[in-house]
Amino acid sequence: MIVKPKVRGYICTTAHFEGCKALIQQQINYVKSQPKPVNAPKKVLVLGASMGYGLASRIVAAYSCGASTLGVIFDKQADGNRTATSGWYNTASFEQIAAADGYYAKTINGDAYSDAVKKQVIETIKRDLGKVDMVVYSLAAPRRMDKDGTLYTSVLKTVGESFTNKSIDLKTNTVSEVTVEPATEEEIFSTVKVMGGEDWKEWISALKKANAIEDNAVTVAYSYIGPSITHPMYFDGTIGKAKEHLLNTSKEIINELGINAYISVNKALVTQSSSAIPIVPLYISILYKVMKEKGSHEGCIEQMYRLFAQKLFNGDKVLVDENNQIRLDDLEMQPDIQKKVLELWNIISSENIYECSDIEGYKKDFYNLFGFEVDGIDYDKDIDVNVSINSINNI
Ligand code: NAD
Repeated sequence: MIVKPKVRGYICTTAHFEGCKALIQQQINYVKSQPKPVNAPKKVLVLGASMGYGLASRIVAAYSCGASTLGVIFDKQADGNRTATSGWYNTASFEQIAAADGYYAKTINGDAYSDAVKKQVIETIKRDLGKVDMVVYSLAAPRRMDKDGTLYTSVLKTVGESFTNKSIDLKTNTVSEVTVEPATEEEIFSTVKVMGGEDWKEWISALKKANAIEDNAVTVAYSYIGPSITHPMYFDGTIGKAKEHLLNTSKEIINELGINAYISVNKALVTQSSSAIPIVPLYISILYKVMKEKGSHEGCIEQMYRLFAQKLFNGDKVLVDENNQIRLDDLEMQPDIQKKVLELWNIISSENIYECSDIEGYKKDFYNLFGFEVDGIDYDKDIDVNVSINSINNI
């Protein structure tokens, strides 16, 4: 089948296996070229391992730390003329390459919030690995089915008052104003249920109870803070409330479960989930321009490499700020970067969008998420969309 991108809003409904595989190989090559972390983990569970930061964490765990990795994903394989999701192709690619390189890599495909997936993961750990020494929690989900059958849906809204600011329309490459309405109490509660720390703690608790996690293990979950222009939408919005809960949960995991838990505050990057947030994509497009010009731009793999090698497993103590958070957004938040971003934010319009932002870079990253616009790939070639994953367990 000849596979082309089909974009609907902020999602692409097709994905290209060869493009995904080339990008996985690029990430592996990057990690292999870097110095190794010290006292790195050897048995790593990654929740949300098929895309974005979780995928990059898995690649760094395997190729920088030499770790066996067990991934949990929520993806779809190809069906007839429908391609698989890019997360499926990423995972297939990673497992093919990792197996050829002699690494243990298995994946469980199912809803990470469910007890069934937790049970399957624990059985796999006990059978194959004994115990894990690191758990990466990198889920970005739109909804969560709770144990009692209640479905919670997360929303990307403000808290308190509505907020109007500039936004980008990536279809027409124009800048316009959008107003984001405040969430109801119920929507805030639901967003915290989905994206807060409750499920993270349930995972660590279940692993502890089953004796499937080392006492000195490390667990990390990802967060974002960003500059004040995005605060009404993010830090002070519904997702920010969930991230506040995540931070509080890290303390509960340390105090109640005795496992070292960290929040890593990462850089804003184009991923499937960040492209769904109103206003933020325009900020990211400007940020890309400013950071690329300064030479400090990083993608998911560079961020995750730095997390492991410089912040967590650097041979000394874990580097955290006064709130016990790891700051991988240190380069993004540098005053000169933020000053320039704000200057451009204030003047950007549909007329000067190419001068004031890296909209082309944003779009390339967006298409790359689905394996498109990858250098060296022939997109007119007929390819087999049915790619199986040998070691996958579908729940
Ligand atoms: P992403 O959309 O690229 O990846 C999310 C992953 O979660 C995918 O592998 C997906 O399959 C998996 N997933 C979703 N629902 C699932 C479920 N029910 N069961 C199992 N797996 C499921 O997201 P991302 O941007 O890499 O985000 C990961 C984390 O990093 C989130 O906590 C996010 O808030 C945080 N973060 C993102 C950014 C950013 O700019 N992208 C910045 C800082 C922090």
